[in-house]
Amino acid sequence: MSMPIDDLIQKNVPLAPLTTFRVGGPARYFFSPQTDENLLAASAWAKEKNLPVFILGGGSNLLVSDQGFSGLVVKPANRQILIHGQRLDAGAGASLARAAMTAASQNLSGLEWSVGIPGATLGGAVRGNAGAFGRAIGELVETVKAYDRNAGRFTVFSRKDCRFAYRESIFFHQPHLLLWQIGLKLETAEREKIDRLAKQSADFRRRHYPQLPSAGSIFKNLDAQNARLANPEFFASAQAAGAVKDGQLAAGFVIDRGLNLKGKMIGGAKVSLEHANHIVNTGSATAAQIMAMIVLIKNRAASELHLVLEEEIKILGNF
Ligand SMILES: Cc1cc2nc3c(=O)[nH]c(=O)nc-3n(C[C@H](O)[C@H](O)[C@H](O)COP(=O)(O)OP(=O)(O)OC[C@H]3O[C@@H](n4cnc5c(N)ncnc54)[C@H](O)[C@@H]3O)c2cc1C
Repeated sequence: MSMPIDDLIQKNVPLAPLTTFRVGGPARYFFSPQTDENLLAASAWAKEKNLPVFILGGGSNLLVSDQGFSGLVVKPANRQILIHGQRLDAGAGASLARAAMTAASQNLSGLEWSVGIPGATLGGAVRGNAGAFGRAIGELVETVKAYDRNAGRFTVFSRKDCRFAYRESIFFHQPHLLLWQIGLKLETAEREKIDRLAKQSADFRRRHYPQLPSAGSIFKNLDAQNARLANPEFFASAQAAGAVKDGQLAAGFVIDRGLNLKGKMIGGAKVSLEHANHIVNTGSATAAQIMAMIVLIKNRAASELHLVLEEEIKILGNF
């Protein structure tokens, strides 16, 4: 007989170790469902208690408040990865890194760009249409089975239904949809080519990304048209420096060359010297200090450069 849901839900679980920033307070309630049945039971439990719910993936694009979160954190633990021909089917809790490795072992290509991203789950990656080097996971998605917490049922989304855009999808705008099962269509390729691309991604990240705890890009790159209109002079300098690509102005260029903030510290939070769009936790940072840095960067970009920076990371809890 399975245990009652009350006995499975944990209380006051520290979230800092479950994020790549390594900061933030506890979740009042925490549950890591592996089965459909447990997921439904936990959702019903939270609904009955009128508690807010937050879905946690690998915590690699997340800033949790020092006070933590006073609702239920659900961390999908369905991590199975299966390959049928060119299709990879996986639970949303499976790690992106393991999906890329499993695909490579079957001579399947498409996820090499993700090698070297620490922590991310497939669910988190699809929700934010993660990508790099001109590729993004949305282009591989065939189906997503999501649990609609409002309607209390599972729905299957096609790639078109997912409405992927730059670091966005329908799930980004509708947090009541919990991604549960992901189906990707990959391409067959020679193992040698897959390994070469994967190594290039890993090497790039080793060279250009900070090694200290961080959460990847803090801000989205800016729409080039809007940036040009807002500040033609700065935009021209970015173009000349090669910081405008694929219709986007690199947020890192704005923070580094526009605001000269590389290395800036607030307490233990520091604008990375390797990549200005990353903030690192030098060891003793609090979430409040990281947030103060985010606010400082946004305010200065607006007042000094007339540019609006928008967070890519998810902020959880009160600041
Ligand atoms: C060093 C470093 C390098 C990085 N490089 C890149 C990069 O090159 N490209 C890139 O795109 N990103 C990069 N990232 C950011 C991050 O890895 C991605 O955004 C990743 O996809 C986030 O996945 P996650 O599982 O960690 O999500 P989390 O950080 O846990 O959550 C992020 C958001 O997704 C939601 N979410 C997570 N799982 C689900 C689910 N199953 N259902 C519904 N919502 C869910 C959460 O509620 C939250 O709103 C990097 C991060 C680090 C630390």
